[in-house]
Amino acid sequence: MSRSDPSKEICRSAAACRVCGGGDLVRFLDLGELPLVNRYLSSPAAARDEPRFPLEIFFCRTCSMSQLGVVVDPRVLYAEYDYHSSVSKTFQAHCDAMAASLGAEFGSANQPFVVEIASNDGCLLTRFKERGCRVLGVEPARNLARLANAAGLPTLNEFWSGEIARRIRAEHGPARLVVATNVLAHVDDLRSFLRAVAGLLEPGGAFVFEVPYMVNFMNRAEFDTAYHEHLSYFLLRPLVRALRESGLALADAQEFEIHGGSIRVTARLSAAPSANVGRLLAWEEELGLHEEATYLRFARHVATLKEELVAFLGAIKGRGKRLAAYGASAKGNVLLNYCGIGRDLVDYVVDDTPAKQGKLYPGVHLPIVSRDRLRSDPPDYLLLLAWNFVDELLRNTSDYRARGGRYVVPIPSLRVL
Ligand SMILES: [Zn+2]
Repeated sequence: MSRSDPSKEICRSAAACRVCGGGDLVRFLDLGELPLVNRYLSSPAAARDEPRFPLEIFFCRTCSMSQLGVVVDPRVLYAEYDYHSSVSKTFQAHCDAMAASLGAEFGSANQPFVVEIASNDGCLLTRFKERGCRVLGVEPARNLARLANAAGLPTLNEFWSGEIARRIRAEHGPARLVVATNVLAHVDDLRSFLRAVAGLLEPGGAFVFEVPYMVNFMNRAEFDTAYHEHLSYFLLRPLVRALRESGLALADAQEFEIHGGSIRVTARLSAAPSANVGRLLAWEEELGLHEEATYLRFARHVATLKEELVAFLGAIKGRGKRLAAYGASAKGNVLLNYCGIGRDLVDYVVDDTPAKQGKLYPGVHLPIVSRDRLRSDPPDYLLLLAWNFVDELLRNTSDYRARGGRYVVPIPSLRVL
């Protein structure tokens, strides 16, 4: 069996648009053959058999939905997942704010039933529980579901589906609120997913979900948030259509800053769209996001960013300086692999998640180490890979900075701090 065979078994090409079902798709961004960016490697042997898949984004000329051309089997992607939402303080603060605002909107009288899809380690669910809600998580990663259950947050270790929704409704009744943060972009069969949500809601209930917003992806050159898990890149216009065809109505959409700029969308069984929905739809139009030429321009810009970053790091290296990276995030991995930045330029990657330490960063195979390494073996420059948490990373490395350490921020444009 040749080395490429396993890849064929676990991925398929997407021929039709996920929203409109049409086939008029144009590839605008090609980031190359990338490894699975959340598959941290435990040994050099694992690195030898590492599968790679094309990472290309297509634009649908019919409905403006952007999406990946290749879908990797979710059982391969999510069986074990190393991203723990509770690790990031920024994300914890976000969960606090979200539970507070939704708690105020949906009330805590009569113990409302709140279901979270892809509930991770229960970071958000625990806050609803504290507010007196009945809660239930649905989480496909075994390790995370186990953590949540151990913490007293009932969690089904399952993928979201119509069958699971029916089972939950039969056992617990309909839900006042279904929440999904940063999960819809990962869903291949979007309509089945949304129909299952509609089937679980009580009349007057709401589905609140958060997804990275394609407007920010384009405006801020966030190409490194494209990876195999992120199948869809949402604008509001195709989302309105996907919801409508699944029995849901888009009620509201709010922008906020997390994962590089996201939108929180509220959908109900029936509702009129808020003024903000109209404003965002008009903005998408104004930015030319329904036109192919805009996407081709974006791709040229991304190629330029790559050239500038590689040239800059090469120049630092040429002056005999040492370089390390901070934040072994998925997006950082896309950046390094796409730009071909490996051991020849970077010595190691620091990350604060214990589960990642001691492993190799996918594709580029850089060692992932704890923050102590910055003290024992400091570099001259630190490339900040988790650029959406820059403030947190700067605080975490104040010692390094005090000793004269410099920082390189790669996105949205190259900055040296
Ligand atoms: Zn389409």
